Amino acid sequence: MHPFYVNNGIYLRREEIEEIKRKRLRNTLKHVYENSEFYRRKFDGIDLDKITPETISKLPFTTKQELRSAYPLKASCVPKEKIVRIHMSGGTTGEPVIIPYTRKDVEQWKEMMLRAFEIAGITSRDVIQITPAFGLWNGGFGFHFAADAINAFVIPIGPGNTRNQIRFMLDFGVTVLCATASYPLRIAEVAEELGIRPSDLPVEKMLLGAEPWSDETRKRIEEIFNARTYDIPGLTEMGGVGSVGFECPLRKGLHMWEDNYIVEVIDPKTGEVLDEGEEGEVVYTAINREAMPLIRYRSGEVSEIVSKERCECGIEHITLKRIKGRTDDMIIHSGAKFYPSDVERILSGYGIMHYKIEVGSEVRVLFEGDSKLIAKISKDFREFIGINPEIVALPKGTLERFEGKAKRVVRI
Ligand SMILES: [Zn+2]
Repeated sequence: MHPFYVNNGIYLRREEIEEIKRKRLRNTLKHVYENSEFYRRKFDGIDLDKITPETISKLPFTTKQELRSAYPLKASCVPKEKIVRIHMSGGTTGEPVIIPYTRKDVEQWKEMMLRAFEIAGITSRDVIQITPAFGLWNGGFGFHFAADAINAFVIPIGPGNTRNQIRFMLDFGVTVLCATASYPLRIAEVAEELGIRPSDLPVEKMLLGAEPWSDETRKRIEEIFNARTYDIPGLTEMGGVGSVGFECPLRKGLHMWEDNYIVEVIDPKTGEVLDEGEEGEVVYTAINREAMPLIRYRSGEVSEIVSKERCECGIEHITLKRIKGRTDDMIIHSGAKFYPSDVERILSGYGIMHYKIEVGSEVRVLFEGDSKLIAKISKDFREFIGINPEIVALPKGTLERFEGKAKRVVRI
């Protein structure tokens, strides 16, 4: 079926996963201790030989703030001449977070993305349009390395100029679209302006990530485009898009590549490790990276472990719920705590795709659509989130559109 590569890591058995995890964690801890001043100081007084995947919670966390302080390469574990590229992690304030890569790290990233391609059935016969940026933010490159490796027809178009994007899709017969999760809706809108039905575009598969998107939005995108969507997680600190896992083909959640990353979910307040089914912050330990493998890195992502058992799809890697949001996106209002994705879930249930949440002393939700919906939406907000925001209906085309990550929450 996929003649150009076979990636066996997807279907590792549980015993194999456990053995690889143990071995790679031991090697990684030794590597960071010997080669990074940053980790030598952090692990001072800890007997690293005693740390196993089961006892990893005895190690301290690594935080984004620490990585900022380590700018430019203070947390790197390799000499500069071994570094082949850097990428940068998101964040709007202070020093940037720089993630260095060795050749082996780039290969590892590509391998993980190839697992995604294999599960999604993407082959050399596909025409792949890559719309995330090719720059310090890692998006474009992650898709590119894998698409190039399988000799697919790659269109490294990057973000912007949606009309041109649509033209290319038609003219080159694009079958796979790689994008941020909010971009397909913008493409659909522009296509309709051009008199093209989005379902007439040749796109069959979409790999969407970089921001949370609800099941309702997914349903809508799939209907509009008559295409199948896949949720692709990944963060620069762990190597980039597609690095940490990929969505289960049966949509049971995200399968996280445990032979490369140890995944924990913690209570963001106490730091305590949570059980399956308990929502918290995702913590990653990279056990197959070289330049700067991060140990117990607090990602800020909010999710929960769905299952540690073998999935019906045959994959035995741990299953995480699709990422709901980031800890710093949480909105606390009138005693209620919620995420922008909770709002999206309600609004997309009414077919609303364009909205904005204003958070100040009051919460105000603006959406494009019929004002007759306000009463129903208001009832849902009270019932499902426990808030009673002012809700404003606006005419179509009033709110800002996004070609990258959508900025839907405005704090005023
Ligand atoms: Zn599965």
